[in-house]
Amino acid sequence: MVDLIEAKRDGQALTTEQIGWFVRGVTNGTIPDYQIAALLMAIYFQGMDRRETVDLTLAMARSGDELDLHDVAGFVVDKHSSGGVGDKTTLVVQPLVAACGLPVGKMSGRGLGSSGGTLDKMESIRGWTPDLTLPHFKQQLAEIGLVLAGQTNDLAPADGKLYALRDVTGTVPSRPLIAASIMSKKLAGGADGIVLDVKTGSGAFVETVEAAVELADIMVEIGEDAGRKMTALISDMNQPLGHAVGNALEVAEAIATLRGEGPADFWAHCLEVAAQMLHLWRPDDPLDEIRERVVSARSGGQALEKFRQMVAAQGGDVAQVDRPATLPQAGHVEEVQAGRGGYIAAMDTGELGWAAVHLGAGREEKGQPIDHAVGFVMPVKIGDQITPGDLLATIHANDPEELAQARAEILDALTWSDDPVEPLPHFYDVVGEEENR
Ligand code: URA
Repeated sequence: MVDLIEAKRDGQALTTEQIGWFVRGVTNGTIPDYQIAALLMAIYFQGMDRRETVDLTLAMARSGDELDLHDVAGFVVDKHSSGGVGDKTTLVVQPLVAACGLPVGKMSGRGLGSSGGTLDKMESIRGWTPDLTLPHFKQQLAEIGLVLAGQTNDLAPADGKLYALRDVTGTVPSRPLIAASIMSKKLAGGADGIVLDVKTGSGAFVETVEAAVELADIMVEIGEDAGRKMTALISDMNQPLGHAVGNALEVAEAIATLRGEGPADFWAHCLEVAAQMLHLWRPDDPLDEIRERVVSARSGGQALEKFRQMVAAQGGDVAQVDRPATLPQAGHVEEVQAGRGGYIAAMDTGELGWAAVHLGAGREEKGQPIDHAVGFVMPVKIGDQITPGDLLATIHANDPEELAQARAEILDALTWSDDPVEPLPHFYDVVGEEENR
């Protein structure tokens, strides 16, 4: 292992054999965490070339079981976000797609660095569990067409270990590590069609559109080589998605969105991701028609009903879906008002994500418990004109000192302009299947 660490530290490419050996050692626990962390840091600084990234992805995908869901679903679709702040997309997109007739059985992850995790969010609902056996997973997929499970230890187990270590060692924002992490899980999960939501901006793990397109390109290529239908959307993460950041607050916002309320930017995002997933399944149907189907799955209430069914099937308290005010509530709720006027020019969205982590919504150490009630709701967007005294955010905290810290961090994260500022687009580019049409 020392040889591998030194080779990568000095900028050499690792061989296919070395990568295979490393992934086996991670999987069976024979390499200690400190050496894994050292290699991750060396990869973070030195990068990996395309061949190394493909080798790492395939070795991780084969580190455990590989799922085949075709006995319960004709076409298996999946989506994955590269991570962002306020990104509760799965909670809305999955039920929309299922309500349009395409079953979705998805394995999701926990928070990573400043980015939240779908499982942490869903666990805000009393009793809800992501821990399903494979027979339960398949039965639920066949019966209601919607499953949201945790990554089992049997599926890409090497990623489970690396993910938890990256989360607490400052090694998340590495393109080859992100590509291998995402694609190993997607390949092992057996999806026929995969939509990747690759985020770019101050709250994403890749900050520029060019870097996001490069990341998308390599993931699309890996997927297509493995015979999967791939689309990658390059989407904006220069500001939180929607308004809510923090677990229960995000669940409430997702439920509101399924009800036809919720922030416009978040709905626009969910509509597009859902439509692209359905388009991989029905490539001959025009995207506009598919979007109309998605819109009616929401307005007709079918998507919300799917979400309720999934919550109930996984032990969750459906009464909390019907009355989101009964989700965990923080002890201290305070508003942050603008002390000045002007236009919001930029947000350090990574810092906003960390502000939520510091309130207790995410982890700073491996395995740390999280507080589902805390976070903030920020209704302002880049380009908004603000007058002094306008509401910038509402902070939900369980500790007054943490609340004061979050207030300072939120204010610090904003950049102001006296001149008008253009709002940002939701999407920058599409890579894969759709770009050819
Ligand atoms: N999502 C993942 O599953 N892995 C990453 O590395 C980043 C986002």
